[in-house]
Amino acid sequence: MSLHTLTIHEARDRLRRGEVSARQLTQAVLDRIQAVDGKVRGYLWLNPEDALRQADAADVRLPLGGIPVAIKDVINVTGQPCTCASKILQGYVAPYDAFVIRKLKAAGAVLLGRTNMDEFAMGSSTENSSWGVTRNPWDLDRIPGGSSGGSAAVVAADEAIAALGSDTGGSIRQPAALCGCVGCKPTYGRVSRYGLVAFASSLDQIGPLTKDVRDCALMLNVLAGHDAMDSTSVPRAVPDYTAALGKDIRGLQVGLPKEYFLPGMDPQVETAVRTAVGQLASLGAEVVEISLPHSEYAVAVYYVIATAEASANLARFDGVRYGRRVVGDDVIEMYSKTRGDGFGPEVKRRIILGTYALSAGYYDAYYLRAQKVRTLIRQDFEKAFQKCDVMVTPTTPEVAFKVGEKSADPLRMYLSDIFTISANLAGICGVSVPCGLVRRLPVGLQILGPAFGEETVLQVAHAYEQATTWHQERPQL
Ligand code: GLN
Repeated sequence: MSLHTLTIHEARDRLRRGEVSARQLTQAVLDRIQAVDGKVRGYLWLNPEDALRQADAADVRLPLGGIPVAIKDVINVTGQPCTCASKILQGYVAPYDAFVIRKLKAAGAVLLGRTNMDEFAMGSSTENSSWGVTRNPWDLDRIPGGSSGGSAAVVAADEAIAALGSDTGGSIRQPAALCGCVGCKPTYGRVSRYGLVAFASSLDQIGPLTKDVRDCALMLNVLAGHDAMDSTSVPRAVPDYTAALGKDIRGLQVGLPKEYFLPGMDPQVETAVRTAVGQLASLGAEVVEISLPHSEYAVAVYYVIATAEASANLARFDGVRYGRRVVGDDVIEMYSKTRGDGFGPEVKRRIILGTYALSAGYYDAYYLRAQKVRTLIRQDFEKAFQKCDVMVTPTTPEVAFKVGEKSADPLRMYLSDIFTISANLAGICGVSVPCGLVRRLPVGLQILGPAFGEETVLQVAHAYEQATTWHQERPQL
């Protein structure tokens, strides 16, 4: 077996037994990148010499000692570029480490490089990157999902053992589903956002993309935890997320939200998900129908709240403090030229939408009303989780679409996240695990849990994964 195909736990066993060195493992992954990233284009930036230096220094007894990990270009790593795939941050070099990066470094991980994404994490296909489109390793004519498309693609293509992404409305789970890997959005507050460039601060959460569920738990063990630098991070003990893996799921209540099986979805995707539900039942889970009655408002609410928060967060990119500047005759002209030239069309659309939703006279009609409906959505989940331990849904209504297929129609693009957005609005946790191939393209099963329910979610995900072989399927490149 070639070293680049290993999971974290497989690689860790070999490193600890001394069968391979951290340098050999990192070199194997770098060789793989060299061989396939010209086609996949998952990376924006790499520093092979530095990665090998980190590998040489890695202590393999640490939790992620010597494991090569890729980082989405929205998370700060000291001395590395952090462009958020935006022209406006071209040339920006991070002066500090995000909390999660400190954790990864302390755990011995090797930081390989920066992965492509939709500009400022706004998108579902990675087509909104200023630096070109990442391709789905399963079919190079198709998108890898987004916004963490680069991270999902490099994990699926064995160009990293694992990766970090961020999820504001589905940006970890959706690309994980479309590329056939495991992706986890932790509970809001479980992982510090310190050092994550903010898109929508009440929704953003960092999480792992991995090759299997055990790796996801191992990553979460390292990433989770309280951080005084993020006032929304929750001071709550971090359990060992691997502890529940392997426990059987007999008697667990698995909710099936009736609003999550839509007439417009790909019938083969629906079949794959319903088959997975049947498998969970045959493992002893009790499947119960539940209802999330306000689901139909989730996309609309999200695009008011997320854009409102984005319009405030992105005000800091003004040509003065960060990245690029386009000069003008006075400061106002400099601001408008810098922002006009630096932001791409989707980011501009959202800043305009968000500014409008927050403006005097419209605040009550849009922003305030959206916040009220958000509360109703959160209450839907609270009620539903009284009847079930986890719920399962499709992660996406369709498999990966062709590059360019939805670019001209933002509304169709926004619907890609119809099943993932509510978890961010409600602040709960979820994972996507591979559950099928439709026309040789991966399908994701989403497993949602209540706030701080990661252990149960991972337990169910692992039970499902171990009973099936979908996670072993690999794209041919
Ligand atoms: N696709 C959604 C959006 O464009 C979600 C993005 C995300 O989770 N960062 O806003």
